[in-house]
Amino acid sequence: MGAPVGALADLPMSAFEDALAQQLADLRRQGLHRQCRTVSQVNPPQVVAEGRPLLNFSSNDYLGLANDPRLKEAAITAIKEFGAGSGASRLICGTLAPHAELEQELAAFKGTEAALAFSSGFAAATGTISALLTKRDFLVIDKLVHACVVDAARQCGATLRVFAHNDLEDLAAKLKWCAEKRAQTEPQARVLVVTESVFSMDGDQATLAAMVKLKDQFGAWLMVDEAHAVGLYGPERQGLVAELGLNGQVEIQMGTLSKAVGASGGFICGSRLLVECLVNCARSFIFSTAPTPGAVAAALAGVRCIRSPEGAERCARLWQRVDRVRAGLRQRGLAGPPRSAILPLPVGEEERAVALSLRLRERGLWLPAIRYPTVARGEARLRLTLSAAHTEADVDHLLAVLTQEFSPASAGGKL
Ligand SMILES: *Cc1c(COP(=O)(O)O)cnc(C)c1O
Repeated sequence: MGAPVGALADLPMSAFEDALAQQLADLRRQGLHRQCRTVSQVNPPQVVAEGRPLLNFSSNDYLGLANDPRLKEAAITAIKEFGAGSGASRLICGTLAPHAELEQELAAFKGTEAALAFSSGFAAATGTISALLTKRDFLVIDKLVHACVVDAARQCGATLRVFAHNDLEDLAAKLKWCAEKRAQTEPQARVLVVTESVFSMDGDQATLAAMVKLKDQFGAWLMVDEAHAVGLYGPERQGLVAELGLNGQVEIQMGTLSKAVGASGGFICGSRLLVECLVNCARSFIFSTAPTPGAVAAALAGVRCIRSPEGAERCARLWQRVDRVRAGLRQRGLAGPPRSAILPLPVGEEERAVALSLRLRERGLWLPAIRYPTVARGEARLRLTLSAAHTEADVDHLLAVLTQEFSPASAGGKL
């Protein structure tokens, strides 16, 4: 025997490994390399990471429900009765009682005829948009919508128009263009506008009432992603559409069960015909295993809690924390973001954001750096999220550390 058989360089796989190493090196060079950090224990709002306790200001568990004993109990009971897995897609294996119950609850919550659960919010968006649009149609999206909508745009093949963030004039111009194109070529073509109600990275709100007027004026439909609004706005905390009294004027309401609801999964609320269409045409519904009984039961318990007086209390506590942080930031001359549970702290350069995030971790705070491609290049930031689980003391500690470590991008920064 000569050289050891299977020396790494001789393996046909090595070209593959080289290509991957190259790809990762490129990301590192741009300050865009990412890593998952293991968290060993979660006791909101605390996590233990690499052996040290950190106050978590990064979660979308806005109402602190993800670790609520009732949600955990609901999941355990459903697993005992229906199993850990759901076996197949619902068209193959059938709808379990928890799925039906969750969908009834969601429709009642949102005030729509029907609802459909998906295994994630991501799957709800891609499945729905691709079920409704083909390449003869038009999709008009806000510049800052979530990646799931961008992917859906690619999948469905519709003509895509992107309007400047929250810019109604630009939206009107894009809708006019679509209406003219449609009149010339394909009168039956569909035009769908998609926006988030509360934007995931900036916490600002879409001007939904004006958007409803515009889409009606131009014969378009509207889909609103309420991922960051469910649990926080509206009389029963259904979201911003309900808060603004626009129920019945938005064709498609989308949400996730993974954020304020405290569980996992996504949903669409709308008419019975919409849901029937999705059951027949949404590929992420048809070709994906049904959400697990545990996740569905936890989500149901989460929605019920949100609608209850206790949900109102948790929500009020969250807003109290938000107002305290905003006042503190303003007082310290740091940027005053919009009133939202998501408070972006702009940094700018990718490496600076990462370094700042590491420094805060050393001081016991978990605030992730958000970089391209989640936000635009050169617009890296810390994304601070608050939860009803934070105490006033938690929030005061955060403000004290931020005062020392953070100065806004516009001021040149300390880093
Ligand atoms: C998180 C998020 C989603 C995806 O929801 P998941 O349930 O996490 O897949 C969709 N849209 C927006 C705006 C989000 O922030």
